[in-house]
Amino acid sequence: MSDCIFCKIAAKEIPSEKLYEDDNIFVFLDAHPVNPGHALVIPKAHHLNIFDIPEDTFAQVMVGAKKVAGIIKETLQTDGINIGMNNDPAAGQVVFHAHVHVIPRFENDGHKHWHGVPYKEGEQKEIAERIRGAIEKTDQ
Ligand code: 5GP
Ligand code: ZN
Repeated sequence: MSDCIFCKIAAKEIPSEKLYEDDNIFVFLDAHPVNPGHALVIPKAHHLNIFDIPEDTFAQVMVGAKKVAGIIKETLQTDGINIGMNNDPAAGQVVFHAHVHVIPRFENDGHKHWHGVPYKEGEQKEIAERIRGAIEKTDQ
């Protein structure tokens, strides 16, 4: 897409610290990292997010994320790695070209996880039934 910043990065019209690319994906450093080495894995083709990216393209992105996660962990001697994807504004998506974050983590680096809240009485079962029902419909 012509005015998409990540399309421009993948096309090298905008500079980035590229880590890796192949025919389908492009991997580069996030300009505002959680920790140094925080990388973004994007498809070269423009897709908005998880909801419209084709399965095979998403698989290529995730294979790329696995590849760089292992190399970043080894090279930067991280204590862990988070893999993340924000989809839609309510989930924190700011750039609307699908991307997977590969985030180096260190003990006590201060990066917070999501909070966990307990289910209300009966809520867990009801939610699971609704989602299971929808999945079963897609399988038919
Ligand atoms: P989102 O919240 O959409 O998942 O995250 C977008 C990420 O892209 C942010 O972490 C942000 O720092 C990164 N980012 C946005 N614009 C640029 C850019 O022009 N260059 C690079 N390298 N990273 C960017
Ligand atoms: Zn794009």
